[in-house]
Amino acid sequence: RAAEEREAAQAPATTVDGRDVEVGANVGSAAEARLAAEQGADGIGLMRSEFLFLERRSAPDEEDQRCEYQAAVEALGGKPVIIRTLDIGADKQLPYLMLPQVPNPALGVRGVRLWQRHPDLLDSQLRALLRVEPLETLRIMVPMVSDASELHWVRGRMQSLAKEQGLTILPRLGAMIEVPSAALCAASLAEEADFLSIGTNDLTQYVLAMDREDPHLAARADVLHPGVLHLIQATVTGAAGKCPVGVCGAAAGDPLAALVLVALGVDELSVEPARIPAIKAAIRRLDARTLADELPALLRLADAMAVREHLAAWQQASQ
Ligand code: PEP
Ligand code: MG
Repeated sequence: RAAEEREAAQAPATTVDGRDVEVGANVGSAAEARLAAEQGADGIGLMRSEFLFLERRSAPDEEDQRCEYQAAVEALGGKPVIIRTLDIGADKQLPYLMLPQVPNPALGVRGVRLWQRHPDLLDSQLRALLRVEPLETLRIMVPMVSDASELHWVRGRMQSLAKEQGLTILPRLGAMIEVPSAALCAASLAEEADFLSIGTNDLTQYVLAMDREDPHLAARADVLHPGVLHLIQATVTGAAGKCPVGVCGAAAGDPLAALVLVALGVDELSVEPARIPAIKAAIRRLDARTLADELPALLRLADAMAVREHLAAWQQASQ
């Protein structure tokens, strides 16, 4: 029975109506990537690179970084690995990069905005990433993008570093969708990006104006709020036919939310490694077309609680 379960976890997740959904893993290190591969990950949907930079007195050098990225790519044996460039801001301080204290760090100079001030930081990470082999399976993802011009700027730097290194093949470059403007401008972003990945943790925070760290708001900062769902739908619609869309926020690992994300049309979910078997199993029980028929009604509901109730009732009636 254990062998059967292992086999099911490694197999692809296909819905009842025949849609293949990739189920990748969110990891913070190459060691976790190895664990994810054992759990049946179809790839790494998000490798947070922050851990390499935090809790140390100086920035990791290029070779330290390359080793870690290379090990993550090798752990997945040819399946795609998305590594997110440093997502740091005034809330997450680096001792070797004194950032000024600001009243609203979540709305401040973080993610891609920070590198435009400190391009050296991005360049050293990109140089390390460009030395990974094979570059065909590596994907580079940019956090906190507000519009296509920011991604265009990163692509420009990547291209000039690749030229310096004499590379002819470039890794795919994608944007996280976690700022509402990025979701609304998904069509133009998808022209510039090779893939999009919705970060529902931050997207929910910014759409609802509810601090993701505030325990008093935790119950209400729900991805199933119709306002958040509208923006996820806008992202999928905007990107349609231009580039694939994944979800790498915690919502992808919530069994109810995951079904809605698939019905909305996302191609890939990336979840904590331990959740992979359960999410794959839930996808295999889902008739995505039937749930898609419910979407107009869901999007008209008043709040997240009503959406959860509607979904629970739908699930009971359909299974
Ligand atoms: C997100 O915002 O949903 C996300 C995946 O990124 P992080 O949680 O690291 O901000
Ligand atoms: Mg985020």
